[in-house]
Amino acid sequence: MSEHVLVINAGSSSLKYSLVDATSGTAAASGLVERIGEEQSHHVHHGPSGDFDDDQPVPDHEAALEAAVRAFDKHGPSLSEAGIVAVGHRVVHGGDRFAAPALVDDELIAAVTDLVPLAPLHNPANLEGIEVARRLFPDLPHVAVFDTAFHQTLPPYAYTYAVPSSWPADYGIRRYGFHGTSHAFVSAQAARVLGREPGDLNVIVLHLGNGCSAAAVRGGVSVDTSMGLTPLEGLVMGTRSGDLDPAVHGHLARVAGQSAEETDRMLNSESGLKGLTGANDFREVLRLRADGDERAQLAFDIYCYRLKKYIGAYYAVLGTVDAIVFTAGVGQHSAEARAAALAGLEPLGIHLDPARNADPSDNVVSTDDSPVKILVIPTNEEWEIARQSVGVLTGG
Ligand code: ADP
Repeated sequence: MSEHVLVINAGSSSLKYSLVDATSGTAAASGLVERIGEEQSHHVHHGPSGDFDDDQPVPDHEAALEAAVRAFDKHGPSLSEAGIVAVGHRVVHGGDRFAAPALVDDELIAAVTDLVPLAPLHNPANLEGIEVARRLFPDLPHVAVFDTAFHQTLPPYAYTYAVPSSWPADYGIRRYGFHGTSHAFVSAQAARVLGREPGDLNVIVLHLGNGCSAAAVRGGVSVDTSMGLTPLEGLVMGTRSGDLDPAVHGHLARVAGQSAEETDRMLNSESGLKGLTGANDFREVLRLRADGDERAQLAFDIYCYRLKKYIGAYYAVLGTVDAIVFTAGVGQHSAEARAAALAGLEPLGIHLDPARNADPSDNVVSTDDSPVKILVIPTNEEWEIARQSVGVLTGG
């Protein structure tokens, strides 16, 4: 029997939803309401009979979810007949309180509210989505699935920054890691592709979307990851710098009188590929690079060099690596980025097959005799949220 979960991902001005069969991963319908609160919003609903657009203004998240419910009524499938067992919510920051998904109750809401200072952009929007959905679906169980939870297994020496020892207790300053739902899904999927048990497999996962992160996963357990206190640390991303010397804040304050807040904003929203080239979209960077744009070439080189450094670091962390897995927009679609990040790593047993890399539809893009398998696996965070939500209900 199919068990459908309504998966909700509420952002500050957007609401994504998907009606997912937790067993098969099939999405019976999905949709996105964007530009919530602006003069003109945009709603697209992908239903069984096609795609439907609506540009009515949507003032707030409540109106956005009501619009989604109307779209289900009008274009299908019927929510009342779908056999929905739960509403699964993506929540970005679970701090060190949530190492697993959890049933939403007033206590959970209070805990996620306490964590707002650690995720001031994300957690309030996620909470808004939960509140609204609880009002619209009061009879269904609601489950919160945290982006940070999968990385709660990091050992203390991997999650502790070398800073005054009072900072973690006083301000929560430590590494948490994000994209955990994707890293969990993709590392488990890698075991399936290789016909192995997740518990027997060491993998390096590279999630390369607009945000990018790497994870070292030993036997299904995350032991290190590149994002830290916030999603700013680590790899080069669409608009985020990734790793840099923390002295940059103080230096800019002294030489440019720039506030910490402004530097923070620029490192999050005006840096990465966008800062280097003007374009945050990797496809655009590739296009500029193909046209001979030197800044785009440099940005590509920096992006792939940073990836290579993390692959090397996590190889050392894991000792033996069974597979390197690429996922999300860039990871799944850019053969050039995969090839550049792995170039020269053959002495480590990492052998890319150029023909397979050009067409990764069979998931495996390494040569048959490569000791380390190289995989391209589409991520599916909605399915993982649906699965984990059902798991909470069944105690699994
Ligand atoms: P999000 O993190 O928002 O979920 P995605 O996983 O969709 O993002 O990844 C978006 C990134 O993937 C963008 O930088 C986009 O340019 C890149 N991308 C998508 N398709 C391709 C492609 N065919 N080749 C290279 N990059 C691609």
